[in-house]
Order: sequence, then C-alpha cells, then structure tokens
Amino acid sequence: MTIIPRNPWFDHEDGWLAGYAVRSRDTAGRRHPEPPHPYRTAFQRDRERVVHSSAFRRMTGKTQVLVASVNDHHRTRLTHTLEVTQVARTAARRLRLNEDLTEAIALAHDIGHPPFGHAGEEALDACLAGFGGFNHNSYGLRRVDELEERYPEFPGLNLTCEVREAFVRHGDHPPVPGFAPSRSPPLEAQVVDVVDGIAYLTHDTDDALGLGFITADELGEVEFWRRCVDRVRQQYAALPPAAFRTAVVRELLAWQVNDLLDHTAGRLNEGEIRTVSDVRAAEPLVGFGPDVRRMRDELQRFLRDRVYRHHRVLRMTANGKRILTALFAEYVKAPELLPERHLRRWAGAGSVSGPPMQVPLSGRTPEARLEVVVGDYLAGMTDRFAQQEYRRLFQPNTDLG
Ligand code: MG
Repeated sequence: MTIIPRNPWFDHEDGWLAGYAVRSRDTAGRRHPEPPHPYRTAFQRDRERVVHSSAFRRMTGKTQVLVASVNDHHRTRLTHTLEVTQVARTAARRLRLNEDLTEAIALAHDIGHPPFGHAGEEALDACLAGFGGFNHNSYGLRRVDELEERYPEFPGLNLTCEVREAFVRHGDHPPVPGFAPSRSPPLEAQVVDVVDGIAYLTHDTDDALGLGFITADELGEVEFWRRCVDRVRQQYAALPPAAFRTAVVRELLAWQVNDLLDHTAGRLNEGEIRTVSDVRAAEPLVGFGPDVRRMRDELQRFLRDRVYRHHRVLRMTANGKRILTALFAEYVKAPELLPERHLRRWAGAGSVSGPPMQVPLSGRTPEARLEVVVGDYLAGMTDRFAQQEYRRLFQPNTDLG
C-alpha cells in the first residue's frame, strides 16, 4: 500500500528551496484564519484563487499599452501577465526560490489596473483627487482583500500576507499599516518586479513593430537592438524578415533573463544572504549587470519618445481618459444608474451575496463613499465595457440595453 504523506510539499520545499526562499510553512498567514488544505500549500491555493477571480478574467479586456480592442495580436494585460508568470517561474526555479509564491504574485501583479492602462489610472486619480486618489497597487490590494466576492466565509480572496505584501512593496507605494517594515520584499516578489520590466520592454518593442509605430531600421539607433541583431545574424545565415524579427525579439528577452539570473545568482552566491530576514534587511538583490541596465535604459527612452508618445497611442489614451472621466461624473450625478451591487455598497448594506463587505469607509461622508464606490466600479471595467457603457449613456441611439 502506498502511503501518501500529509502535505508532501513541506518536504519538497525543505529539500529543494534555498535558505533565502520563503517556505509555505512560514507564511504569516491570512486575515481570516482557515484550516490548512490537505495537499496544497498556502501559496498554491493563493495562485488558484487569483486565477478564479473575476479581476483576473477581466484582464483579457484591459489595455497594456494599446487599447485592448485595437487588434487581436498585440498584448493585453492578461497575456502580459502570463508572459511575466512564465519567465518569473523559470527564474524562481533557477534561483531555488518558492515557485508557487512567485507564480501567485506574478498572476496577481496587474490585477488592480483600471481600463485604458496608465491613461485610465491618471484619469481615475484625477477624479478621486479629493478622496485619496487612485493607485493600481492599492486598488489591487483592496480588490483581493475586499472587492472580490467568491467565498461565503470571508470577503475578498483572503490571500496570504506574502502575496498581499507584493502590492504594498511594489514601486513607490506608501506604507500600509499591518505590514512589518522591511527594506526589501522577499526575493520571490523582487523577481516578479524585475521580470515585469523585462516583459513589457520586450513586448512593447515587438508590438510597436507589429503595429507599424516604429520600423526595424529606426530601432537600429538602439544599441541593445543592434547587438541582438548581430547575435541572430551569427546564428542564422538568412531568415525571412518576419522570422528574423521574431528571432531578434526572442534574443532580446533571453539576453535580459540570462543577465538577470547570472547577476542575481552571483550576488546570492557571495554567501552573506542566508535567510529571508537577510533578504529583507538588504538592498534589493534581484537585478541586472551594469551593461544590460544601461542598454535597457536606452531602449526604454526610445520607446517613451517613439511609441508611448506616438500620436496613435496618444489619441487612444486621450479617448480612454475622456470616457472614464465622463462616466465618473455621470454616476456621481446619478447614482441610480449604478448596478445594484454597487448601490448597496454605497448604502453600506454590504455585498448582495456573502457577509457584509468590510469597505474602509469609516469616517467618510456619504458623498465620499459614492465617489469611492464609483471609482471601484470603473476600475473593475474592461476597456470594451467602459466604451459600451459610454455609448449607452451618452450617444442617443436605439440600443437601450
Ligand atoms: Mg505588469
């Protein structure tokens, strides 16, 4: 008879993970305590909860840089998220970090983005200026803590502290009560952060070429691209243009990933970092060498000037801002247009299903609640839904659905 041990993952983690990796048995736990699962670790459960959330599914219809409906070939938030997850898992495995935790953080990392990318974020931040503003990381945390409605036992997804912390420690997020101060997040979160940058630099270059915003000739100005072209030429005698471009983009991705792993492993192998506490007390350890850092900066500047400020991109982003700003004003003026679920939150009656939601509204005036509720509703929309809703509310036609 085969005996399957109780949660064999603990043994697997003890055998496989480096000392500086986060072990699932050491999790700081969930806001609402739950019994352990018989055969999944806490981080494996988190990963699956994120995938089953409605915010995750809606990333299909959300802009990365370009409005999600512009064509079917460029990246959306969801495909970007999957690319980040793939690379982050590879990196975690190579560095002997906790792959399940890395995966959960990667899948969740963009879950708080509103429709229309950064333009949407700017628009909501302006609308909510008197009510705490809008930041996609804070919204992501509220989304997983409160706004998702899936489980009768608790609001939100009730994720572990380690996954929630990744929202808080991301970029220049202000400190949030409830998270112990530490100079750096665990390596699993650091990996996702840096890999996110690799993914968007690479696929924005690829998408911008594919959509004709820039040409391969123009990219020849950029050292990183030129050196990738040279490497591909050394490897393949002749390739048709499309295959050549794909090969160069692949080289661009592989070069960054390899450099990241080499330099990070080098820093970790110096031997001063042995535990998660050492990681938290140190400067961030996951990063590139100086050469790649310099070349990435140059490519980033090129994209900023030629792609992110391309008139076609600016036109899309201006449009997205206009839509969100107009919808915000309209719902605040006429809250009865909101779906019932959101009206109930405004009224403080909690969610339709499940226990009352713990929305941090105490001390706010009822009007302020309305702005926050409207902001939450708008931030959860896909690009397409926001566009449709705008048409339904502002364009006189016969489509009164
Ligand atoms: Mg991202």
